[in-house]
Amino acid sequence: MPILECRKLKKTYHSKDSRTVAVTNFSYEFPDTGIVAIQGKSGSGKSTLLCLLAMVEEPDSGQLFYDGKEYSSLTGAEKLRFIREETSFVFQHYGLFEDMTVWENIILPLRMVGETRSQTKESIGFLLSHFGLEGYEKRIVSTLSGGEKQRVALIRALVKSPRILFADEPTGALDEENGEEVMKMLSSMSGSCLIIMVSHNTELVERYADRIITLKDGMKVRSK
Ligand code: ADP
Repeated sequence: MPILECRKLKKTYHSKDSRTVAVTNFSYEFPDTGIVAIQGKSGSGKSTLLCLLAMVEEPDSGQLFYDGKEYSSLTGAEKLRFIREETSFVFQHYGLFEDMTVWENIILPLRMVGETRSQTKESIGFLLSHFGLEGYEKRIVSTLSGGEKQRVALIRALVKSPRILFADEPTGALDEENGEEVMKMLSSMSGSCLIIMVSHNTELVERYADRIITLKDGMKVRSK
């Protein structure tokens, strides 16, 4: 049973005098691990699709299955549990608290769910050193480079061992070298979780993604 599958997803945005079909007729069976990149021009529906898959937005029609269970059959508590325990989200502009330390940023989401085991603290230490940030625990986030901030954001997303990591343009604010570092990091994590990412960077995606979905006008025009 795939961890995530969707059938004929559709999402339309309505405003006063217009109607935009952001995603339509989108069906896909995701693998359990690896990097799946979503590509397409600006306005093609990439962010909307990511939000639908991550349960941030609700589709107008179509079906989403998590571990074979249909989204609409889940209770509010089940949806919340899935979002909180099984998934993580990473943003282009990091989403970190700039005036807090690296450690405080990483531990915050865990504190919110009451998770403070010493094992978790050990795994934060391991992740920091594994991704070249050994000794950064007490650094204030505003003093870090963009590449370092994105690595902290990824560690924060990873520390709860999500089964699915959603990433919206995780290399979008970075230069070539830091973008490459972040993709290497994602790649090294993708053996044990599914990473679904939106990216404009075709060159990096071609090199690091296991599968690529291309959208045009909200429709899947290619997948490989
Ligand atoms: P992309 O991520 O590929 O740039 P989006 O998913 O952001 O594309 O947007 C797809 C289409 O939906 C665009 O035409 C965009 O203007 C429209 N759209 C996205 N979000 C909203 C919204 N909240 N309200 C109205 N239209 C929206």
